Amino acid sequence: MFGRAPKKSDSTKYYEILGVPKNATPDELKKAYRKAAIKNHPDKGGDPEKFKELAQAYEVLNDPEKRDIYDQYGEDALKEGMGGGGHSHNPFDIFEQFFNPSAFGGGSSSRFRRQQQGEDVVQTMKVSLEDMYNGTTKKLSLSRNILCPRCKGKGSKSGASSHCNGCQGSGIKITTRQIGLGMIQQMQHACSECRGTGEVISQKDKCPQCKAKKISQEKKVLEVHVEKGMKNGQKIVFQGQADEAPDTVTGDIVIVLQEKEHARFKRKFDDLYVDHKLSLTEALCGFQFVLTHLDGRQLLIKSNPGEVIKPDQYKAINDEGMPHHERPFMKGRLYVHFNVEFPNSLPLELSQGLEKILPGNPRKQVTDMEVDECEETTLHDINMEEEMRRKQQQRNQQAYDEDDDEDEEPRVQCAQQ
Ligand SMILES: [Zn+2]
Ligand SMILES: [Zn+2]
Repeated sequence: MFGRAPKKSDSTKYYEILGVPKNATPDELKKAYRKAAIKNHPDKGGDPEKFKELAQAYEVLNDPEKRDIYDQYGEDALKEGMGGGGHSHNPFDIFEQFFNPSAFGGGSSSRFRRQQQGEDVVQTMKVSLEDMYNGTTKKLSLSRNILCPRCKGKGSKSGASSHCNGCQGSGIKITTRQIGLGMIQQMQHACSECRGTGEVISQKDKCPQCKAKKISQEKKVLEVHVEKGMKNGQKIVFQGQADEAPDTVTGDIVIVLQEKEHARFKRKFDDLYVDHKLSLTEALCGFQFVLTHLDGRQLLIKSNPGEVIKPDQYKAINDEGMPHHERPFMKGRLYVHFNVEFPNSLPLELSQGLEKILPGNPRKQVTDMEVDECEETTLHDINMEEEMRRKQQQRNQQAYDEDDDEDEEPRVQCAQQ
């Protein structure tokens, strides 16, 4: 492009400026820049030329592509445009971006005032299954901090403020202390005089409404649109509606939907489940019943002629499940889970009658002679769950006792010796 190969030139200067070896890792570069940039910041009385050099060196070495070019061809190659632009960046921007990358929005302030990210406000909202099926709008009233409308968050009548003397407007104080043998530790913390804001407002200029606090309270009503098919845990975000604060990007209000349990319907994704009890007669001879759906419609649910429903059987009705979110005309299935209630006993004559009517012969009859050769048994009524629980307890107790035995064994042996 330039008609000549970039000439070999010095490519160690930037490393020397930052005081790192040529094979320094990105982490080492960052540490070196952080330390030197704070120390040489002009607001701290540092040398502006040195500060600029540090920013240049860091900007190049922190970018793998630029660092590569610099390592091979030196500084001139970067100036000739191989790195996509020379050193046009403001050293203060580089500094600000380094210390507060999330809030960096350009500009070239010599003060490193931070734009903080405000916190999100997360709130759960209980929603009935009916509301998730039909969709609804809920009003949610809350109070939040806003920038004082009278002073627009400046805190002063005139809108002016002056730099805090304690920190020269940076909001940060850097203290150094000797930690032995020429080692100096630097610590930065928020300035106590201005509470880290970097500015002070004179007594008579203070905003009368917020008393220079810059914020006031606002009552707000949010309209939360619960759309058809929304799910438990789904988030509805009101961007930038959380508490306002000076020099802060306002966070979001996040509403997390919490599905209330329903007395009749259970939901799994876009499907609905209902339990339905049938008498033995209904299970054998047919049934029909009315189910009120989540939108109030009355569904008639009935068996097919001649059909027998078995205990624990499921059947499904298409398109009567939950609407899909954002495609509410599509719906899941409605599953009906049948329980069959058997009578505990039957009058003898009824059971003999049934035996004749019901299909299928009684299973292989045992002859009187065979019965004579057998032993009599008794069937007891039990609760199987309770049986299992008791057996597990017994096993646990046994294992515990065996552990005890092992502990005792060595002692017995010792006694024998
Ligand atoms: Zn005010
Ligand atoms: Zn201060």
